Amino acid sequence: MPSSSSIPRILRVAVPAPLFQSFDYLAPSGIDLSALQPGMRLRVPFGRGKRVGILLGVASQADISAARLKPALELLDETPALAPDMLDLCRWAAEYYHHPLGEVLATALPTRLREGGPMQAARSRKTKPTPTESSTAHTLNPEQAAALDQIRQALGRFQVQLLEGVTGSGKTEVYLQAITEVVARGQQALVLVPEIGLTPQFVARFRARLGAQLALAHSGLADGERLNAWLAAREGSAAVVIGTRSAVFTPLPKLGLIVIDEEHDGSYKQQEGFRYSARDLAIRRAQQAGVPVVLGSATPSLESLHNAASGRYQLLHLSQRAGAAEHPPMHLIDVRGQYLREGLSNALIAHIRRHLDAGGQALLFLNRRGFAPTLLCHSCGWVAGCKRCDAHMTLHHAQRKMRCHHCGAERAPEPACPSCKSSDLLAMGQGTERVEQALQEIFPDVGLARIDRDTTRRKGSLDRLLEEVHSGQARILIGTQMLAKGHDFPDVTLVGVLNADGGLFSVDFRAPERMAQLITQVAGRAGRASRPGQVYIQTHQPQHPLLNQLIRAGYRAFAEVALQERREAAYPPHGHMAVLRAESVQPAAAMKFLEEAAALARETLPDSVELWGPVPAPMERRAGRVRAQLLLQSRTRKPLHALLREWVPQLDGLPTTRRARWSLDVDPQDLM
Ligand code: ADP
Ligand code: ZN
Ligand code: ZN
Repeated sequence: MPSSSSIPRILRVAVPAPLFQSFDYLAPSGIDLSALQPGMRLRVPFGRGKRVGILLGVASQADISAARLKPALELLDETPALAPDMLDLCRWAAEYYHHPLGEVLATALPTRLREGGPMQAARSRKTKPTPTESSTAHTLNPEQAAALDQIRQALGRFQVQLLEGVTGSGKTEVYLQAITEVVARGQQALVLVPEIGLTPQFVARFRARLGAQLALAHSGLADGERLNAWLAAREGSAAVVIGTRSAVFTPLPKLGLIVIDEEHDGSYKQQEGFRYSARDLAIRRAQQAGVPVVLGSATPSLESLHNAASGRYQLLHLSQRAGAAEHPPMHLIDVRGQYLREGLSNALIAHIRRHLDAGGQALLFLNRRGFAPTLLCHSCGWVAGCKRCDAHMTLHHAQRKMRCHHCGAERAPEPACPSCKSSDLLAMGQGTERVEQALQEIFPDVGLARIDRDTTRRKGSLDRLLEEVHSGQARILIGTQMLAKGHDFPDVTLVGVLNADGGLFSVDFRAPERMAQLITQVAGRAGRASRPGQVYIQTHQPQHPLLNQLIRAGYRAFAEVALQERREAAYPPHGHMAVLRAESVQPAAAMKFLEEAAALARETLPDSVELWGPVPAPMERRAGRVRAQLLLQSRTRKPLHALLREWVPQLDGLPTTRRARWSLDVDPQDLM
């Protein structure tokens, strides 16, 4: 009988691979077993290569025969790269999203560490300091003071607080004062924002108030800078971290408060691979850490409003704009049968002229970039399509390019119709570039600024455009949803929404919610006390109940009607969903795989879970692959997740799995 000391010590390792299992290794030679702790990184042999895995634990018995065990190659850490709390969070996330733990753990690490690099500060290229603004704490108005007081009372325990307040109502000021208090107690705070590049003012205010205690963590940073921010948070030299989605995984040993700004924003959901919601993970993290989490928004998601109404979240409300006007009134412009000049009605043009004459600025919102979304042959009806997607190519006029907005494909515009050789090609419909050109003709003496992904691609160009608006050099702004985020335009007195109808007809169940959020957010960028704003919305559906509710009674009233519709359809938050998506190069393989998956699910499908499909995706072909999806829906979460737990790990065993690529999306943002 072997003595206990000769029993091989087995290392159980999570390896980043799309597999629902951990892998066993022997300890690397010459290493002190007592030094091993879960969360440490190990370089291990895997298949024909090597991977960086995370140690989950040490076992005395292996899952495979001892003869097949290989030794791990190298221990990479002296202290765990993932502390116990982060390991717990990742375990929870892997279970909740039914995603392989190894991939989840890899997501939680900065790139340098994921690749096996040392856990020490990278030499910084000089990092550009973020601009600071002089900013001193304001004396809070009574509503702000009440909100701050509630947050303060919640410090030290788990509580979700929904801070609902229109743009400019002073939410950021409340965050800042709450965070200052947390820092004064020797604790740390995590602030999540949708996109850092779009919110320079927000970061500048934090920088001014917190100085060197602030670290930024977002995808715009070089890998070395990102690692340094991660280390600063881990060591505690950064008391506050502001970051985008993946910053939810920043190690914060003294976490005292989490803030999620613009909590309704869709960019908190990762849309590929490990499809997590950073907002929902942050809430889970706050619960684990026993700290409050503040969700801020002028237009809270229907989920959060529902949770506030049911008492799960505490509602903190700011109804007044700090030192500013009431929310601007909204009007519909019925464009049915009206002449439209590149999407602009005469009524809207007249309103713009009136506001410009009175010294105001105008902000026009159109959620479509480029010149025209369709290029059509007038002679034979040919349409310029993407060769890899079921989609039209968008014409980008100034750049002389046709672009697919779905796969990124690009080509020169056809000089003549490839089908009938006619040169009579028509650019149909409007994007921001075309509307800008029309406005230039209508208002030849007025400065224009177009703000969309095309005009802001180059570093510094967004700042320059914003500066033109703030200095008054540009007096008409035209742009996409980038305009809805972060910025304030105090001299804007007119907001025009060129087309509200897209959100009313989409197959996506969240489209009306997004439309209402966008309109409300764009409207909120305008006006201040001395210059109250007006909002004009062009529509072909002036009777539409949701649109009318929004216009007449505001976002909250809209949300109530929309929530009622969701209740009837058992859509979130009145139901829970998971979508299994598949795509394949061979036309039928994705569908075939999903049919097999559906058959497997039906073997154990409880009555409380409904299974729909498989059906082709709304855009069936994208980037050269054919796509299909299967929807699982349930009024309650438990039976759905119980089914997923059994079902998902079996999917790789289905006969056609090799010919299709699949991914599971729990709590999908859309069904596209
Ligand atoms: P939000 O985050 O809701 O958009 P902010 O906190 O950015 O609102 O406040 C809007 C503007 O009002 C900012 O310029 C801010 O400095 C100012 N402000 C905020 N709170 C107060 C206050 N209590 N007194 C005076 N000004 C304030
Ligand atoms: Zn033709
Ligand atoms: Zn394409």
